[in-house]
Amino acid sequence: MAKIRSHKIRSAILKEYNHCCAACGCADREALAIDHVVPQALGGSDELDNLQVLCVVCNSQIKGKVQTPRLDPRQPIWDCRKWKKGRMELRAMINGMKG
Ligand SMILES: [Zn+2]
Repeated sequence: MAKIRSHKIRSAILKEYNHCCAACGCADREALAIDHVVPQALGGSDELDNLQVLCVVCNSQIKGKVQTPRLDPRQPIWDCRKWKKGRMELRAMINGMKG
């Protein structure tokens, strides 16, 4: 998962994306992660135009696939069922890996 050291950049990107996931709109703070559009491993920068906000569910679905373009900000969805469902699946997956 991306680690953004600069608090300033972190709050700027969250603000640009309305504090929600760019893919599903989930606004659960717990779920949100800053994603590098071009991965750091491939030379992607920590600049705003290479960052987007995704929830961990969308992040895990998008990553590992073909490189996706930077998503546009969208309106937050406060009661995100996808996240609630995804969170349970994610937890089950993590538990499964441990077991
Ligand atoms: Zn999402």
